[in-house]
Amino acid sequence: MFWRAYGCHVITLEIMSGSIRPVLLAVLVLLGLTAPQLRLVSDGAPLDWSGTGTGGSDGLSPGAPLYVPPAIAHGGDSAQGWTQPLDAPVVSGFRTFERPGHDGVDLAASRYTPIVAAASGTVISSYCDAIDVRDGSAWGCYRDGDPNLTSGCGWHVDIIHSGQEITRYCHMVSQPLVSVGDFVSTGQELGQVGSTGNSSGPHLHFEVHVNGDPGSGGAVDPETWMSDRGAPLGGWW
Ligand SMILES: [Zn+2]
Repeated sequence: MFWRAYGCHVITLEIMSGSIRPVLLAVLVLLGLTAPQLRLVSDGAPLDWSGTGTGGSDGLSPGAPLYVPPAIAHGGDSAQGWTQPLDAPVVSGFRTFERPGHDGVDLAASRYTPIVAAASGTVISSYCDAIDVRDGSAWGCYRDGDPNLTSGCGWHVDIIHSGQEITRYCHMVSQPLVSVGDFVSTGQELGQVGSTGNSSGPHLHFEVHVNGDPGSGGAVDPETWMSDRGAPLGGWW
């Protein structure tokens, strides 16, 4: 199980669950029946707490309480290798009556909430897509978009997975952390929640496409897709 906490740098909290299944461990921790063994790691290596090691730059000291934002924590990967891109409620569904052209779902979360890859795969798109609808000029992604004046996905990432499915993550706050051609693993951070492109406020617009078709014809309901893969949207608990 991996949780993330934030100081000046991203750090990762790794719970050494041993032979206990992570979800069971989390339940036991919540019930106060056991205490997790925590180990701070950074980029996969233990932080150096001695002297002026890298740990000091996070402003944390050994034993200090760590804030784990609930919107970031996720329960881990499903047996099928999928995980929700972030742990947040679905506030707008796939092709609803009110929004028949909405080819994804909207997950409400605070600006800067990390967005992770729903499954492993290869990045096939990573750029700013934001157009001023009044004259077709570039709106730009270094400012928020407008729900009426801006079209496009904003800063976004597309990933193609082993079954030729494509997942799409829109409206990131800044340039994604991954580039075209990068292989990403399930749960790897792609960027953070923002409101670039056609957006009325910070959220993740998440799409799932099948048959390698990034267009509207390939889009399927992400809620059904993720539920079928053991990683339902809207929270693990
Ligand atoms: Zn949306």
